[in-house]
Parts: sequence; structure tokens; C-alpha cells
Amino acid sequence: MVVGGGLGGIRAALDLAEARKDVILVDKAPCIGGLMAQLDRTFPTNNCDLCTVAPFTAKEGRGGHLDMRGLTTVTAVSGKEGNFTVSLMTAPRFINVEKCTACGECQRQFPDCVDFAPGLDPRAPTCMRYPKATPYAYVIDMAKCADKEGLKKCCPVGAIEPDALPKTEEVQCGSIILAAGADLFDPGNIGDTAPRYPVAAAQYPNHLDYFGYKNQPDVVTSLEYERLLSASGPTGGKLLRPSNGQPPKRVAWIQCVGSRGLQKGAGGYCSSACCMFALKEAIVTRERFDSEIETTIFYMDMRTFGKDYEKYLTRAKEQYGVRLVHSRPHDVLRPEGVDRLQVSYTVDAEPKLITEEFDMVVLSTGFKMNAEVKKLAENLGLELYADGFPKTDCFNAVASSVPGVYVCGTIQGGKDIPETMTQASAASCLAGGKVAVTPRPQAEPPALMGQ
Ligand SMILES: Cc1cc2nc3c(=O)[nH]c(=O)nc-3n(C[C@H](O)[C@H](O)[C@H](O)COP(=O)(O)OP(=O)(O)OC[C@H]3O[C@@H](n4cnc5c(N)ncnc54)[C@H](O)[C@@H]3O)c2cc1C
Ligand code: SF4
Ligand code: SF4
Repeated sequence: MVVGGGLGGIRAALDLAEARKDVILVDKAPCIGGLMAQLDRTFPTNNCDLCTVAPFTAKEGRGGHLDMRGLTTVTAVSGKEGNFTVSLMTAPRFINVEKCTACGECQRQFPDCVDFAPGLDPRAPTCMRYPKATPYAYVIDMAKCADKEGLKKCCPVGAIEPDALPKTEEVQCGSIILAAGADLFDPGNIGDTAPRYPVAAAQYPNHLDYFGYKNQPDVVTSLEYERLLSASGPTGGKLLRPSNGQPPKRVAWIQCVGSRGLQKGAGGYCSSACCMFALKEAIVTRERFDSEIETTIFYMDMRTFGKDYEKYLTRAKEQYGVRLVHSRPHDVLRPEGVDRLQVSYTVDAEPKLITEEFDMVVLSTGFKMNAEVKKLAENLGLELYADGFPKTDCFNAVASSVPGVYVCGTIQGGKDIPETMTQASAASCLAGGKVAVTPRPQAEPPALMGQ
């Protein structure tokens, strides 16, 4: 069983299917793809990630050994390596996928039904997470739907089922791979629910909201910025300031937001991927939108440690003119009557406060353990580090403390896609070792990603 259908889970499941091992891939989301399906381009190649992942998640790419379950979570696990019993709960989609033609009529008739814009557009009575979603069907959040009958009637093929109920099921499996990813730090909601801005300096140690995230529309997280860059995002691929719909002229990135911090709610570790994704976002801003847009990254250290990543950093600086400032700004302000954001900082060379104005500020938020996944890990008996990530063997980074349970991807700690993929294949090798091959007179399993 693979829990989590992001890139790590997909890769692990496809590897197992290729080795003719039966796999159940469960994901709590309506469709698989995880975080990567929400990104614009991905470093180090700056390719469109959706084009990379879509062929492998499509129905015809799954082969006979892979059983995918969306909207499904693990509710209980018993047994041990070689013979686990896993209880699953599948939430209703309220749409019969066999009947739905994905015509989009339900979404057209309910114009507020827009999704796939994390933090920038939370409205979503019905939704398809991304254009090539697997399965290729919409999903309805009935709790948000005011006119259930109207919604039901609008479907030309009678696929909408407002009274559908959750389903439960028990399955046996030999090994479990946890690939449920991680949350991203929420810069506006850590340890304090009071109105956040302006905020007394004495409150600063309790939260991370001094960057103005909740009050300033032009302060966005990296993931929101990726959605603004993306053709499938809320602005249809136009880079516009959320506050006034105008293209930005100056954009700043602030690194290590949530990571490498000592405040309440922050993590005392490096999230590994955010230096690279900030460089990527700055490059894409200048390359795809307007080479006149000034891009500045405020950083503590540039941790570009992957294969050829240093070249990527050099290209960002020399070819694309991305400006790097070695400093950690304390806050982001917008004084009354000013429509730009002010970032104040100091640098080693000049012992004075420098203040600059920007149209947008992107907070490079890192990874933290998801509370629900932590609970699942605890129920499985996994030992966890203080920050909540599962403990793994020093010489085997995918083996958890429980035999037969493996981890891969960002559930194991912040990392990028190449590292996630490497771990996924390692986890599938170990997990598959205890599972019998199932010969099937069915179609050949899919080729591995990247081949
Ligand atoms: C803004 C941003 C930009 C990035 N850009 C790049 C880039 O350009 N290049 C690069 O290499 N890396 C990039 N990364 C890192 C990359 O996104 C991650 O390395 C990768 O997505 C991790 O994959 P994963 O499968 O471990 O997790 P995820 O992609 O997060 O997938 C986890 C899956 O598990 C599911 N899940 C969660 N909880 C449960 C549960 N309880 N039960 C069942 N299912 C569950 C989720 O629905 C999800 O589908 C970026 C990250 C961010 C935040
Ligand atoms: S549920 Fe019906 S209306 Fe909505 S996309 Fe599917 S077929 Fe079309
Ligand atoms: S990868 Fe860079 S931005 Fe992210 S936590 Fe590490 S040093 Fe900070």
C-alpha cells in the first residue's frame, strides 16, 4: 500500500507495478499529483511539471497492478510486516465518475466553482484540481453548495449524486509506503489568531506574521506565486499584483520563512528546496513575463547543493540578472497612503538601515509535518523526531522504525523532486521485497517516469 499520490507516491507505486507487485495507491485528495501538480515550472530544467506528470497518471498509463483510490484515507492499521490489515475510508465525490464526461457544465452553471489556487481563491463547491487531473472528473463539496437540487439537475448525464455516503473497507498488504508529503508553513497563522498587523514588537516571538501576509494582498507565499505564474492559475498565467491587478515592476523574495527559525511554530531545520524554487520563480518572472521586472532575493545562505544547482544559481545572477542580497529582513510594511511594500534590511558592508519599496513580496515558506499524517504515523507506532518527521535509519533514509513501513518524499523532511524520486524508488525496492509477484494476463505495466 502506498499512502499519498504525490510524485513520491506515484513513482513508488509505478515502480512496484512495473515489478508486477499489486499496489493500492490512496490519496485523500480527489485526484493524484500532490504538490507538483500545483507548480508552474520546475527546477532544474524549468520544464512544465504537468506535462511531465500527466502521461503517467493518466488511466492508460497505470497497467494492471495499480489500484488508485482518491478521496481515501487510512483510518486504522494492524498486523505486522508481511501481513498488515489497513482500514480505508473513501469520502463521497458526489459525482459518479463512470458517468461523468467532465464536460464542465456543473462548473459553468455555478460560476463561483473555481479551485486550484491555494490561498488565493478558496471558493470551490465543485472543482477539478488541475486540467489533466487523474481521475479526470470533478468533485463537489456539498457543504459549500447552497442549491443541491439545481446542481443535480444541471448535469446532462445524471452523474451528480448528492446523497452519496462514505465507504469503508479493509485491505491486506505486505508493506506500507508513507508518501503523504508535508504542509507548508503558514506565515500568517502561527501561534496567534489575533488581528495581525500592526502588531506589537513584544508579540513577535509568538508568530511569524510580521511579514504582513494576512493583511497585505501583495505579500504571497511561494506556492501562491507559482499559481500566479501558472497558465492554470487564477490569473490565467498573467503575473498581476493581487491588490490592484497591475503587473509588478519590483518583486522581492524573503527566504527561510518558517524554516531555520526559533519562533513559536517555526522549524529549526533547513527545508532544502526553497532556495532553488525562489531562484526558479525569479528566473521565470524575468524570462516569461518581463525582463524589466526587478527581482531581489533576500537570503541567509543560498543552499543550492544538488547536481549542477550551483550553475543554476550562476545563471540566475549572470544571465537573468536576479539580484541577491545577503540579509534577513525583519518585517514588511505598507505605510498609510503608500501602495507599495517597504522592506527594511541591513547588510554586512554598510551598518545602516536600508529601506526599499517592492510591488510584491514572496515568502519562501518551507515544509513542516502535517498534523493528520503525524497522527497516522503515531498510530502505526513510528518513532518521530521532535519536529514530527518520522525517524529513519542512518544508513537507510527510507526505513522507518517499524519493519515493513517505509517513507519517501517530503514526509521524511523537506526536499526537492529529484530527491523525492530517488527515495521513492528506494522505498519501493524495499517494500516490494516482501510482496509476491502477481502474474496477470493484462496490459504491460507503464514504463518508468523519465524513460
Ligand atoms: C512553492 C514550491 C515550489 C517547488 N518547486 C520545485 C521545483 O521547481 N523543483 C523541484 O524539484 N522541487 C520543487 N518543490 C518541491 C517539490 O514540490 C516536492 O519535493 C515534491 O512535491 C514532494 O513530493 P511528495 O510526493 O513527497 O509530496 P506531495 O507532492 O506533497 O504529495 C503528497 C500527497 O499525499 C496526499 N496526502 C496527504 N495526506 C494524506 C493522508 N493523510 N492520506 C492520504 N493521502 C494524503 C496529498 O493529497 C498529496 O497528493 C517545490 C515546492 C514548493 C512548496
Ligand atoms: S458532473 Fe455532469 S455536468 Fe459536471 S462535469 Fe460531470 S458530466 Fe459534466
Ligand atoms: S533551502 Fe534556503 S530558503 Fe529554504 S530553509 Fe534552507 S536556506 Fe532557507
